[in-house]
Amino acid sequence: MANQYDVLVVGGGHGGAQAAIALRQRKFEGSIAVVGEESDIPYERPPLSKEYLAREKDFHRILIRPAKLWEERAVSMLTGRRVMSVDLKAHRVTINDGEAISYGQLIWATGGRARRLSCLGHDLTGVHSVRSRADVGPDHGGAGDHDTHRCDWRRLYRAGGCRRFFKARQAGDRA
Ligand SMILES: Cc1cc2nc3c(=O)[nH]c(=O)nc-3n(C[C@H](O)[C@H](O)[C@H](O)COP(=O)(O)OP(=O)(O)OC[C@H]3O[C@@H](n4cnc5c(N)ncnc54)[C@H](O)[C@@H]3O)c2cc1C
Repeated sequence: MANQYDVLVVGGGHGGAQAAIALRQRKFEGSIAVVGEESDIPYERPPLSKEYLAREKDFHRILIRPAKLWEERAVSMLTGRRVMSVDLKAHRVTINDGEAISYGQLIWATGGRARRLSCLGHDLTGVHSVRSRADVGPDHGGAGDHDTHRCDWRRLYRAGGCRRFFKARQAGDRA
């Protein structure tokens, strides 16, 4: 892995991915890397609570761009790495394994996090938040126990709204 890029994008969500795409579309020829703490290359989040959850779309169909395209566009995807600190004067970030990466321009696209409930019962088994693919489970089945998974999700729907309830029904849940 190179440790210097002309543009370093921190955050591999839609915003970060789109920034890298826009640079290439505008004929930027310098080196670009996207550092993201998730293990997956950028994907769309809305389907997590819709088509992906309902098993209407596989993961590869919700990718913002296929892996091959990032290679063709010479955008390095540094997945599974979290930026821990930024030295603005030195134009350098430090990632969680201690490695330093230098940059010419930094794009900060770290998005947001789900705000957890704080009411009574917020920590009960079966209360989830969905922000990432990992929250849904790579095979849509959580830890592999499908019945348990479904039982857990039923509880989520009760608290989480009609859309998830509807998608659960489509996925065959008896919710
Ligand atoms: C389940 C779900 C359904 C949604 N449905 C809709 C919808 O129907 N319509 C709609 O308009 N919007 C919807 N949204 C919202 C939409 O997906 C977000 O607005 C969008 O994902 C924001 O993109 P982003 O790139 O700004 O941030 P994010 O998607 O949050 O991406 C930021 C990324 O940066 C990473 N990151 C954070 N800190 C660091 C760090 N220090 N180092 C490295 N990486 C870091 C995070 O892990 C994350 O991968 C939905 C979101 C979710 C979760």
